[in-house]
Amino acid sequence: MAEKLPVQADETRNETVRRGGVGGDNGRKKAIPKGVVLDKDGKPCRSCTSFRDWAEMTRKEISPPRSKEPPSTTPAAATSLPPDCPPDVETLGRSTWTLLHTIAATYPATAPPEKQAEVKTFMNIFSRIYPCWVCAEDFQHWIERPENRLVPGQEGGHLGGRASFGQWMCRAHNEVNRKLGKNEFDCRRYEERWRTGWADGRCD
Ligand SMILES: Cc1cc2nc3c(=O)[nH]c(=O)nc-3n(C[C@H](O)[C@H](O)[C@H](O)COP(=O)(O)OP(=O)(O)OC[C@H]3O[C@@H](n4cnc5c(N)ncnc54)[C@H](O)[C@@H]3O)c2cc1C
Repeated sequence: MAEKLPVQADETRNETVRRGGVGGDNGRKKAIPKGVVLDKDGKPCRSCTSFRDWAEMTRKEISPPRSKEPPSTTPAAATSLPPDCPPDVETLGRSTWTLLHTIAATYPATAPPEKQAEVKTFMNIFSRIYPCWVCAEDFQHWIERPENRLVPGQEGGHLGGRASFGQWMCRAHNEVNRKLGKNEFDCRRYEERWRTGWADGRCD
């Protein structure tokens, strides 16, 4: 479990860390806006924070892409992260889920023991090095729950084959969806979303 940050001191992490607090800056106190998550070194964590909150903290108004049109007199603040910038928590999350679900969707229908062991190792390391540390910690707790543990070679276990591993990954993602107040994904449609494409043929 990571050390508690000043902003977390008296409350639980999930509720408080995104509210922001007061960060040190060469002895001067600097207000950290609500929504900005601090890293373990006390500095704002870009990959743990949404672009919206990050931009509010840096109070930058980013110009829209250059065009031949005359510049507007009131430049609009960017509402989404430009594609060639370091990822915020959402961009990183979307890209990571794409990788994780694609790994699950291309997992063997029946996985040999060595494949099971590799994937268990990968998921364990992943849960420790994921750059959004608050996300990583919650994910570690989730995969340590007895019902979610990845045990290679276990009869009927989550790593036995594509179907069971996909359902495990779907539940893992839904856990985060619930935490963030988003709709849950219908795991019965997992294969369509991540492997075969939708039944209506729009992915073909
Ligand atoms: C391990 C992990 C932990 C995270 N923890 C946090 C956190 O603590 N706080 C935080 O702010 N963000 C967290 N994120 C990021 C967050 O999950 C989202 O990726 C981010 O908010 C962007 O969300 P989105 O609505 O664009 O779609 P995403 O949630 O990124 O989903 C991408 C696509 O996956 C599909 N999908 C959605 N749910 C499922 C599912 N259950 N199974 C299969 N497919 C699905 C949908 O088609 C969706 O469009 C985490 C990401 C990861 C990988």
